[in-house]
Amino acid sequence: MPEQAKGKGSDVKAVEAFMALGIEKDLAEAAAGLGWTSPTQIQRDAVPLLLQGRDVIGLAQTGSGKTGAFALPIIQDLLKNPQPLYALCLSPTRELAIQIAEQFEALGSGIGLRCAVLVGGIDMMAQAIALGRRPHVVVGTPGRVVDHLTNTKGFSLRSLGHLVLDEADRLLDMDFETEIDQILKACPRDRRTQLFSATMTQKVNKLQRACLTNPARVEVSHKYRTADNLRQQYLFIPAKYKDCYLAHVLTDLSGSTFIIFARTCDAARRIALTLRNLGFEAVPIHGQMAQPKRLAALNKFKAGDRNILVATDVAARGLDIPSVDVVINYDVPTNSKDYVHRVGRTARAGRSGRSVTLVTQYDVELFQKIEHLIQLKLDAYDVEAEEALVLLERVTEAGRIATATIREKDGEGRGKKAGKKRTVDDADDLLGTGFSGGSSRANKMGGGKKFRR
Ligand code: AMP
Repeated sequence: MPEQAKGKGSDVKAVEAFMALGIEKDLAEAAAGLGWTSPTQIQRDAVPLLLQGRDVIGLAQTGSGKTGAFALPIIQDLLKNPQPLYALCLSPTRELAIQIAEQFEALGSGIGLRCAVLVGGIDMMAQAIALGRRPHVVVGTPGRVVDHLTNTKGFSLRSLGHLVLDEADRLLDMDFETEIDQILKACPRDRRTQLFSATMTQKVNKLQRACLTNPARVEVSHKYRTADNLRQQYLFIPAKYKDCYLAHVLTDLSGSTFIIFARTCDAARRIALTLRNLGFEAVPIHGQMAQPKRLAALNKFKAGDRNILVATDVAARGLDIPSVDVVINYDVPTNSKDYVHRVGRTARAGRSGRSVTLVTQYDVELFQKIEHLIQLKLDAYDVEAEEALVLLERVTEAGRIATATIREKDGEGRGKKAGKKRTVDDADDLLGTGFSGGSSRANKMGGGKKFRR
């Protein structure tokens, strides 16, 4: 075991903290030697159960220390009774498989633990040779593991004591069901099984029922976790077509209630007005509106007179906005935590919900920060560019009129006495009566409700 783990007061504490979970001294020292000063929550919760021999389902993301949680009890069993081909860990990706193997090797280096990695894109022969060395632990992606089960002589799972399904939700999303079935059939019944997943989906639940026996469930509360029943998608689009794609999504999901989040008050005004010009029932709510106006807008939305609320983060936070069907991030929030607040407006109280984030060429980094914070990779919203861009001419015209109207009205406001400045959404009149009723230009567009499906 690594020398640096011995003798230091803090390391002694770390060793004791791992031993308190039931981990043997040698292994606890190896964990401390990696600089782990105390077990993480998932390790505290899962390790004692696993050492008792329970099957475990763990809801935890990458970064929670879940690899340690499943590796430590496996290595402890191997310490007592070294056996080849004793554990198999299935991972959805090559990179993750390699990382898992590295942790097994780091924790087991002092006790001569052998590990083999079976992933695609790497020569089968070299992997077959590694299997020939009778590794204690095999980590792999399901497809390649099945390949070896079928083609590599002498490789079988008959002596398996532990099966780990890591990131089960992603394994199932990547359509590895057939391979997982084949692997399960090749495993002995009296093995122990651990299943880790970031989210509890129906498919994960089904898999859990198929392969775990009386499992204990442990869950790490993730501070920035988004609801499981929320379908989160993104739409990668050129910035110049943002309005057009927005109109497309609203049409595509018509019949729903929406909150559209914009970064600035001006953007919220402009978007609401553009949408009204196109015949959508949109109402803005932002910090430049006086509180009574905000409440009036909100009440219209709550009463169902308007089905689209165009909001800024600040305006939305102070108000009791009811749950909506769809949250659209017109602008990617600069503060990633705002994303969690925004999408939290839908999929409340067990209901399902949806969010669509418009990501342009300028937002990629911000978007990746969000995915990192929530520990999820979002799915793409399915759209054909030609289909969305059919609306381009009308949307451009609606946007142009909106901008002109705002300029005109703000100009008028400036002309009036101080304190009497009238902004476009001073009243929904402008958007409601004023615009759709009063603007000849808007009416000429003739889009109105006919535009909507
Ligand atoms: P994982 O969630 O298993 O992908 O682990 C994420 C990172 O946390 C890895 O780099 C581990 O080495 C590290 N780690 C795991 N357990 C602990 C611990 N008890 N203390 C500090 N770091 C840890």
